[in-house]
Amino acid sequence: MASAYEKLKTKLAQLVSLENIQALVEWDQQTQMSEGSGASRARHLEALSGLTHEIAVSDELGKLIEAAEVENAGAAYDSDEASMIRVAKRNYERARKLPTDLVSEMSRATSVGFEEWVKARANNDWKAFVPALKKIVELKQQEIECRGYKDHPYDALLDTYELGLTAAAVEGMFSELRKDLVPLVKAIGAKVDAVDDSCLHQPFDETDQRAFSELVITRMGYDFKRGRQDRAVHPFCTSFSQDDVRITTRFDPNWLNPAMFGTFHEAGHAMYEQGSAPALEGTVLNGGTSLGVHESQSRLWENVVGRSRQFWTYWYPRLQGVFIEQFKDVSLDAFYRAVNKVHPSFIRVEADEATYNLHIMVRFEIERDLFGGKLAVEDIPQIWNDKFNDYLGVVPPTDALGCLQDIHWSAGLLGYFPTYSMGNLLSVQLYDTALKQYPTIPDEIAVGEFGSLLRWMRENIHQYGQKYEPQELVKRATGEPMQSRSYMAYLKQKYGEIYNV
Ligand code: ZN
Repeated sequence: MASAYEKLKTKLAQLVSLENIQALVEWDQQTQMSEGSGASRARHLEALSGLTHEIAVSDELGKLIEAAEVENAGAAYDSDEASMIRVAKRNYERARKLPTDLVSEMSRATSVGFEEWVKARANNDWKAFVPALKKIVELKQQEIECRGYKDHPYDALLDTYELGLTAAAVEGMFSELRKDLVPLVKAIGAKVDAVDDSCLHQPFDETDQRAFSELVITRMGYDFKRGRQDRAVHPFCTSFSQDDVRITTRFDPNWLNPAMFGTFHEAGHAMYEQGSAPALEGTVLNGGTSLGVHESQSRLWENVVGRSRQFWTYWYPRLQGVFIEQFKDVSLDAFYRAVNKVHPSFIRVEADEATYNLHIMVRFEIERDLFGGKLAVEDIPQIWNDKFNDYLGVVPPTDALGCLQDIHWSAGLLGYFPTYSMGNLLSVQLYDTALKQYPTIPDEIAVGEFGSLLRWMRENIHQYGQKYEPQELVKRATGEPMQSRSYMAYLKQKYGEIYNV
């Protein structure tokens, strides 16, 4: 007879498969599906998420977890068995807090929300998006009540993406960063013309852009035999298994950055997903442990590696070989400076490393006030523009370039943005730790090799999947909790040199 643990594992595999199928259907919605198919797709997603939720909260699953827990009472904390039971129990307790009706309604509301957002953004029409977003916010408020919170209602949402994260902790993180970051950005702002990035704004053939970035990410370690890249309105990474991890990108025919750095970024997410230990495949432990840790991987390959001088020492001559006319008069030094130009812009995904966190501060404060009852959905455009003026000294000319730019709210991803800033901090904290073990990493990168860096990430982060909670994993990997010291030192060193500040 199968053990209680085996029975639990089988049930969880069914649940994980249903979640994977749902992700596949969502991938199709954003990459392949025709414009007129939204209503039927909403029905499919509603059915799937309802079914998944039913299993996730079933008494049957609760009993299986209990029995497996008794059976494995002596198992080591680090073992797959103890970890799987621990994570399954946590997920179960969290899922039990949400009624099936609410989950189905949210799925329907976000399907509609996505369709409405695409149209509203195309037509620069915030008002057209308001009813769909109001519905999503209203459902999120119900979710907050179900989940419960100690200090601030928004804490309940933050915690769903990053275990234990609170509004107060995010405020703390930002106030510490703001202290050093704002003077740095101001000093650079006074010398903004010191770097010319016009070489990046030229016509670039899409096929060539794609071929080059795919060559780079293959070398970094993204396995195309277990993945693929497609076009989408908003770049993302999704996985249905550690053997099927997909990325998307968007191309700008007159600007090199979005597709190239976007591809490095998504490949960073994808390598994390592809790197779980094989024994975790199909289980609740497969895949990244949290959004913040996930973002540390994407930021690592996009910025810490992909915008470093060593990286371009190897790759720039190769890029020049592809875009011969565009770069024939541009030196390596000029190109390196161009890809690191700091300039206050409207679009988060295209923001430089120095100003990126300011984009996140705007969104964090809006979301916090929305759920703190201090802000109405109708008033978001005005507040958005005011805050941009305060933090970045620029006002988006249209809502399409302002509060309509991100997919997140239409997808119900509220409480998600602060994890991007965590990712920035962790990317450098992890890289610095990897350097201590493998001091030759920069030299390897300068000759187009990424083996030691990827190995360190595989050994210290990727292989564990979701076995450890984010703070636990960071502590194990770096010997200390998440900190902003490494990140600020990195920014000061890099931009001090480029801008002479
Ligand atoms: Zn990302």
